[in-house]
Amino acid sequence: MNRLHDGKTLTLAVSKGRILDEALPLLARIGVRPLQDPARSRKLILDTSRPELRLVIIRAQDVPTYVEHGAAEAGIAGRDVLMEYESGELYEPLDLGIARCRLVVAGRDHAPAARPRVATKYPNVTRAYYAARGEQPEIIKLYGSMELAPLAGLADRIVDLVDTGRTLRENGLVEIATIADISARLIVNKAAMKVKHAAVRRLIAQLRGAVRPRARD
Ligand code: AMP
Repeated sequence: MNRLHDGKTLTLAVSKGRILDEALPLLARIGVRPLQDPARSRKLILDTSRPELRLVIIRAQDVPTYVEHGAAEAGIAGRDVLMEYESGELYEPLDLGIARCRLVVAGRDHAPAARPRVATKYPNVTRAYYAARGEQPEIIKLYGSMELAPLAGLADRIVDLVDTGRTLRENGLVEIATIADISARLIVNKAAMKVKHAAVRRLIAQLRGAVRPRARD
């Protein structure tokens, strides 16, 4: 039977990397522990200590796609990825408060550029940000190491995630503006919200109870 229609079982898609690392302790607090160690196992689908719940560990950008298409009823993805995905087809019921960082504009200095060349993994967000300011930058899509682009003369600006600011500093870049505060969110497939109402509600309620209030900063 299609898992989406069996009423009880849930697949949770989780972004690899920092989000997975910070989601595992949160999941452990609601009694969900992978049966194999995700750091060692090459398995892409992990059963958990709760037989009705399994995890799929995938690239951040793929999490909303899995959830929108119902291959996973729920997912954990960064707000940056969700802003870039731009779908109205996902519920986003909970800020999990993990993997916090900021999406910023950075460059070698604050000198204005007439039509800036902006290197980023986030072309949609970047376009919208500049459009709201009446600017039309040239957007250069990159898949990693954004900080290199201004140093190599590829771009005037980057739009990238910043946490401590160390990566920018070590590459001689300065923060010019903050576009958004980022954290990981729980997302839910719209059909699953109806078809698996009880199971999904329970997961949301348990995670809500496990989220730690934001430390004063
Ligand atoms: P930092 O040097 O602490 O400012 O971290 C910046 C680097 O870490 C950049 O390469 C970012 O793309 C990456 N990064 C920071 N926060 C996150 C996050 N929450 N999720 C994924 N990557 C992040």
